[in-house]
Amino acid sequence: MKKIIIAIDGLSSCGKSTMAKNLAKEISYLYVDTGAMYRAVTLYALRHNLFNHDGSVNIDALERHINHINITLHLNKSTGQPETYLNGQNVEHEIRSMEVSEHVCLIAAISAVRHALVSQQKAMGKEKGIVMDGRDIGTAVFPQAELKIFVTASPAIRAQRRYDELKSKGIQADYNTILKNIEERDYLDSHRQLSPLRKATSAIELDNSQLTMEEQQNWLLDQFNKTIHSLYRD
Ligand code: C5P
Repeated sequence: MKKIIIAIDGLSSCGKSTMAKNLAKEISYLYVDTGAMYRAVTLYALRHNLFNHDGSVNIDALERHINHINITLHLNKSTGQPETYLNGQNVEHEIRSMEVSEHVCLIAAISAVRHALVSQQKAMGKEKGIVMDGRDIGTAVFPQAELKIFVTASPAIRAQRRYDELKSKGIQADYNTILKNIEERDYLDSHRQLSPLRKATSAIELDNSQLTMEEQQNWLLDQFNKTIHSLYRD
């Protein structure tokens, strides 16, 4: 069967990565979490002191480092989960920290970073058969994607989900700090100049506030089947 590109965008912590990952597994597609890529660049910038004392990014220094930042995604064979590597080191745990969450929007707003990551992401989708999630997948990375989804949920519900997720991974978390970070990231991601978070015109919107993970999964699989059916009916 012919393969398609599935672009899943949406607000922070709305569960889109879990949905996207599960769909990819079910239909044997490649899954790419682009948020993890921006997080890995942020971790690199924190480790190499590329933030100024006032909290802004030292853009010149970051641009000089950009060709030394190598991000790869590998499937952990024992867990079946994709994991993020920064210059050969597994950083899947570190990139989920609050420190990274608090700095990632600044890094994601930098032109050289977006340029480098978007071209890698485009290359990953060359053969199609890919589910990619992020903020600009349907608008900038794959505007030609055959299926585009835009996911939303209320900030309080998203904060609770993120809190539960961090706790389950053994990462220290405070609900109010997470809520504040989610609201700030929503604002920064949708108001930045470069590829701001937007629902692509042809995207199907899903508010999953009241849905269980199983319901979301079934809904997404249904959208996939409908898309395949309408494209390749003959
Ligand atoms: O999806 P996640 O919350 O891990 O993304 C972390 C951050 O990376 C977002 O808040 C956003 O600033 C940035 N991002 C982006 N474009 C993407 C994916 C993530 O700007 N395609």
